[in-house]
Amino acid sequence: MIDYCIIGSGISGSTIANLLKKKSTVHVFDKAKGVGGRSSFKRYKKNIGFDHGLQYLSPKSIEFKKFTKKLIKQKVLKKWNGDHKFLNKNVKQDKKHIKIIGVKGNNEISKHLLKK
Ligand SMILES: Cc1cc2nc3c(=O)[nH]c(=O)nc-3n(C[C@H](O)[C@H](O)[C@H](O)COP(=O)(O)OP(=O)(O)OC[C@H]3O[C@@H](n4cnc5c(N)ncnc54)[C@H](O)[C@@H]3O)c2cc1C
Repeated sequence: MIDYCIIGSGISGSTIANLLKKKSTVHVFDKAKGVGGRSSFKRYKKNIGFDHGLQYLSPKSIEFKKFTKKLIKQKVLKKWNGDHKFLNKNVKQDKKHIKIIGVKGNNEISKHLLKK
């Protein structure tokens, strides 16, 4: 018997599924071809791809920092030192925030959370 059905495999749905699956049976449905929602990544050639939405994570809460740290250890995520180029010259990059991306694309977060 299925205990929960989750509509959507973006970061939210994947996180909820990952938490619920510890004690329940969970099914995740998505209308898209792959998982990740707005963190989807389209591979174009072997090492070239494009983010559909989310470009990087910049965790601020303790819980989210813990979550990303764990995934960095597991080589799902990595720190990113890329620069931003702003069209508006008055906007400066905030160097304080760490930037984190998926090692193979940002949809790796959902893939990892939904693995089992
Ligand atoms: C261009 C762009 C750039 C962004 N850049 C950043 C960034 O740099 N950093 C950052 O932190 N955030 C960024 N964001 C925001 C971030 O992408 C979203 O906040 C996050 O991905 C939302 O995750 P979610 O799981 O809540 O929703 P979604 O990722 O939208 O997931 C919803 C899922 O539900 C599915 N779904 C919807 N309706 C149905 C249905 N009826 N039946 C079945 N499936 C359904 C969809 O297909 C989708 O997979 C950006 C967003 C965009 C669009």
